[in-house]
Amino acid sequence: MQAIGQFQIDRLADIASVRLPSMRGFPLLTREILSEHARIMGPRFIDPETLDLFISFHTYVLRIKGRVILVDACIGDHKHRPNRPDWHMRQSDFLQRLAGLGVQPGDVDAVMCSHLHADHVGWNTQLVNGQWVPTFPKARYIMAEVEYKHWLARYEHEGASLNHGSFADSVLPVVQNGLADMVGMSQQIEHGIRLEPAAGHTPGTVLIHIEDGADHGVLTGDIIHHPIQLAFPEMPTQYCEDPALASKVRVAMCERYANTGSRLLTAHFPAPSAGRILREGKHFGFAFDTE
Ligand SMILES: [Zn+2]
Repeated sequence: MQAIGQFQIDRLADIASVRLPSMRGFPLLTREILSEHARIMGPRFIDPETLDLFISFHTYVLRIKGRVILVDACIGDHKHRPNRPDWHMRQSDFLQRLAGLGVQPGDVDAVMCSHLHADHVGWNTQLVNGQWVPTFPKARYIMAEVEYKHWLARYEHEGASLNHGSFADSVLPVVQNGLADMVGMSQQIEHGIRLEPAAGHTPGTVLIHIEDGADHGVLTGDIIHHPIQLAFPEMPTQYCEDPALASKVRVAMCERYANTGSRLLTAHFPAPSAGRILREGKHFGFAFDTE
């Protein structure tokens, strides 16, 4: 457990470590660059043999003044994801480990989605008697209206396979159950939580800020996927809808928070996942928090 002001923050892994094929995801990376960074960063971040990157999928559990707020709902269980073997038909102990933090599904007040890709919405729903139902029955599910409308329009053209099937099995059921709040991309949420537009990765991607007094944290979603991007913040990725805009947003975020007290709670860095951005010459580094 960590804290930012009065926010208590737990990081709950859904999948602690998965390989991300580096040169497929980041076309400008070469074996030479990756080998050098594998030496610098170590095997927790880059496999020195295959040069795959390791990333994590985790939810942040925020607690403040009796409220329980989850940010990004990872992969989920029993989801049919045949194109992603790591995500396909999982049976995990995620909810038991959430209970281990003292949080039952009915205790969750809000679930926030930085964006609506399959690896950020999975635990929005669970399979009960063959139906996808909201996992957190008393929660408001908060998503940017721009993001929802973008994927809804594509769903109407592309159908159930959109985003590996996650729009149909993990987003629509919470909307159909009346639990979704579609919000503006600059919305104040509650208790010092606010959104900031950060389109690029997807059209409705938001940064989620948490502030209490002088203490400040940013839940980065997929503005950045792996620490190697701090060395090449302008480098485009295959994972972004608008790679050039996403790179601009990433560079601006790094510039803004380098060598400040602001903590970044990243969505995919291997544990401990959170820390501070450091300026390193023309590029950036990361001082991981101790867990
Ligand atoms: Zn992601």
